[in-house]
Amino acid sequence: MFRTYDQSQPFLLPPSLRDFVDEGHPAHLINDLVDLLDLTMLEARYGSLGQPAYHPRLMLKVTLYGFTVGIFSSRKLQRACQENLAFKYLAGMETPAFKTFIEFRQRHRDDMKAVFVQTAKLARELGFARLGAVALDGTKVEIDALLDQAKAADAREDREYGPDADGYRVSEELARREQRLKKIKEAKAALEQREREDHPGAPIDPDKQVSFADHDARCFTKPGDGTRYVYNAQAAVDMDSQIIVANHIEDSVSDAHAAGPALAGMEQDLGALPRELVTDAGYGNKDTLERCQERGVTPVSATAREGKEGHAGKLDRFSYDGGLDRFACPHGQVFVFVREHASDGTRTYRTADPVPCTCGHYETADGREVIRVGPGHLAKRVLRRIMDEPGRRELYRRRKCTVEPSFGQIKAGMGFRRFFYRGLRNVRGEWDLVCAAFNLRKLAALLANTSGHANAAGPIRRRGARGTSALGPHSVRMALLPDIRDALLHHFIRPATLSVGRLAHAA
Ligand SMILES: [Zn+2]
Repeated sequence: MFRTYDQSQPFLLPPSLRDFVDEGHPAHLINDLVDLLDLTMLEARYGSLGQPAYHPRLMLKVTLYGFTVGIFSSRKLQRACQENLAFKYLAGMETPAFKTFIEFRQRHRDDMKAVFVQTAKLARELGFARLGAVALDGTKVEIDALLDQAKAADAREDREYGPDADGYRVSEELARREQRLKKIKEAKAALEQREREDHPGAPIDPDKQVSFADHDARCFTKPGDGTRYVYNAQAAVDMDSQIIVANHIEDSVSDAHAAGPALAGMEQDLGALPRELVTDAGYGNKDTLERCQERGVTPVSATAREGKEGHAGKLDRFSYDGGLDRFACPHGQVFVFVREHASDGTRTYRTADPVPCTCGHYETADGREVIRVGPGHLAKRVLRRIMDEPGRRELYRRRKCTVEPSFGQIKAGMGFRRFFYRGLRNVRGEWDLVCAAFNLRKLAALLANTSGHANAAGPIRRRGARGTSALGPHSVRMALLPDIRDALLHHFIRPATLSVGRLAHAA
């Protein structure tokens, strides 16, 4: 005996799109959260001429939701809008072509920063991302930039789409290939030109590779792993909520100078700074110390790679008295400050008399010992002293449970491993989208896990006398939505853009 089914049966009542997506489905929360963003700056980029465009909110909902479930390619987004109920719901049954998604990304690449910032602000409004301790880290995201990789990609695309796509079927990937080949040729010509000028008549050194596909990418060589072309994508993660509160693309493969831009981002975009900035040894230097100190932030940073603490330099065996600005060698000989070199900030310290040890870097003619101390050394001492304060090491260890899983979720969970578009502006826009999607995903999870009363510290309070027993996602949304609306009304949203009716419908 089988259940009867009838595919030609008409609906008795017109169904609502919401009915096709389970009440607990994350698409609802993403939808509701994106509804709360102020997209005026995106809307302002459309003129009144030409064909009416898809609303940027629709495009953003689909794109961001796509990112949260690992769909990054415009072609796949198009297909999802045709076949997948959650996407159909988010797109209101519209089916934008993949070219429309490409145009949307291109047109709004500089707006995605504001979208990301709003997700962080939204999290703060909802009582998350309080900026106690914030962990900063970088991840190197590759571009498939090497010539052979580009060729491999082309071959793959040819197999997938056929080599002779006509004008109608010119795919996003083929368009990219043309762009890629053009850039490769340009970069190669520029390199050859420069080499000819620098070394007339000499053959071109094959080691002098530039990234053929992307001038802005940085070359990164890892022993035993060859050379890769990467962007150093930085994210500052609130350690309590795992919400990304600042992000940028660092203009170097090194993390050494990334603390300043990250703190400036929080200061400027959120109007707030963390109590502590927690970083690994890649950031453990004078720059990080000063950027933190000038803002009243405590830097909790390692200064040597884990397990390499034993390889400390000669100076690390000296003790230092900051008040008197003098060092003492292991034999107790005292080195006093003599002068600072204006050019590089190196400071010279010397014993007052000839001493019976040879701890100094060199000995003067009359037998006094001299040490030279680079500016970075004293900064590392300050950082180590901070690390020795109560609770800091534990906080530093917790960093591993915050920022590394976040990057892990972006790379493994969301499946984002490479930048799809080339050039710094595009890559910035893409990283902003990734971080915005990550925050929405995280917020959806945080809200789903919040049973209303559990977030008593935040601005969200459950209303009325509903029970405090465990609530399903549906009732959580019902309980939260009016509060989200209230919390956000004065912050982001003009009343006209708020769909109160729909929120009421959900409740
Ligand atoms: Zn000594």
